[in-house]
Amino acid sequence: MSHIVVVGAGQAGQQICATLRNEGFEGRLTLIGAETHPPYQRPPLSKGYLLGEISRERLFLKPEAWYADHGIDLRLGAPAENIDPDARTLRLGAEVISWDQLAIATGLAARPLPPEAGGDLGGVFTVRTLADVDRMEAPLKAARNVVVVGGGYIGLEAAAVGRKLGAEVTVVEAGPRILGRVASAETAAVMRDIHIEHGVTIREDARLDRLVGERQVSAARLANGEELPADVVIVGIGLIPQCSIAQAAGLKCDGGVIVDAYGRTSNPAIWAAGDCALFPFRGGLARLESVQNAIDMAQAVARNMLGAEKPYEPMPWFWSDQYDVKLQIAGLNTGYDRVVMRGAGKVPMSLWYFCGSELRAVDAVGDARAYMVGKRLIESGARVAPDEVADPETDLKALLKR
Ligand code: FAD
Repeated sequence: MSHIVVVGAGQAGQQICATLRNEGFEGRLTLIGAETHPPYQRPPLSKGYLLGEISRERLFLKPEAWYADHGIDLRLGAPAENIDPDARTLRLGAEVISWDQLAIATGLAARPLPPEAGGDLGGVFTVRTLADVDRMEAPLKAARNVVVVGGGYIGLEAAAVGRKLGAEVTVVEAGPRILGRVASAETAAVMRDIHIEHGVTIREDARLDRLVGERQVSAARLANGEELPADVVIVGIGLIPQCSIAQAAGLKCDGGVIVDAYGRTSNPAIWAAGDCALFPFRGGLARLESVQNAIDMAQAVARNMLGAEKPYEPMPWFWSDQYDVKLQIAGLNTGYDRVVMRGAGKVPMSLWYFCGSELRAVDAVGDARAYMVGKRLIESGARVAPDEVADPETDLKALLKR
């Protein structure tokens, strides 16, 4: 009987298994996870779960019994090691497991602050896993001063939670602006205003020198010598694709596991999906860090493992919740030459990114209608005039009927 092994029991790994079974795969199926929990959703970790509004049970994608019910051998608490592509085996602890096809869905790891910068002091946390957040919960609730290092989505979401829990919060961003890697300057400006309105101090162009403290962090020292008091520090300085086992197996990697349009790695029996996969997109290679990509790519890869031969066509979308504002992003705002704003820079508002007459992306802040219309227009490839979108008199929904 054919044996498929999926390495990485996260959003994509769980979806690969579910799709394989839905599509009629009746062979052996093993899902291997380094964490001790069954696959769970990560977005609430920096939002409702950290705030204490979402219970632990609601994080799990499926109850544990689902795996046995679907004939999935779920192996948790130990990382898969040493993939041998020629022998078609991998090592799990003392065991050697044979496979016919393998899928890699190992995701990303939070980039830690190095110990020489104070990253090993008590009170310093990253936000990637359930265990990270469980460790942080009590100190964050008791904290008076929180410093967030890094003004990306996760840092800003954690800042919003810290503020809601009553702490003084400062975000320290080394780059010239927050959200520098992931959003346009216009969207960043709106999100900055929202945080400032909620009492968060945003320090851009502010480089962290090191964290100070005996065993417990007491302050964050900036490169200009200034010290910000801190009893909790949340580090959101980037993510590292977990591709060491793929690399060691000789698979092509370059800041992600490189796959073709079908999700196949440089070895035809090995596939990759989700955050760790680098796939062809707009003439280059892209890696997307979102739930939607993890789900959609996992489905495409699972079908291709069963012989569908259908390329993965991503429709990127992303969301972030900060306070009671939802930022929703449809498309990828790369290569745009014009951006127009709908709304006066205050919530609800949206930004529409065009390359010539092609709508590439929409960022909607507290504006679900703009997001929905923008997403559908991008999906259908319909042409709309930038000035028309920017005009507050234009009925957005009517654009879909043309
Ligand atoms: P993961 O879900 O990270 O799963 C990978 C799993 O593989 C991990 O459990 C890891 O331990 C395991 N693994 C690694 N190496 C091995 C090994 N050798 N053997 C066995 N197992 C291994 N996305 C959005 O779209 N919207 C959001 O609002 C949003 N918020 C987020 C908030 C937080 C705090 C975080 C951390 C992420 C957020 N994301 C959000 C991103 C989203 O959660 C990820 O894109 C998604 O989880 C990717 O799924 P994945 O399966 O590729 O990786």
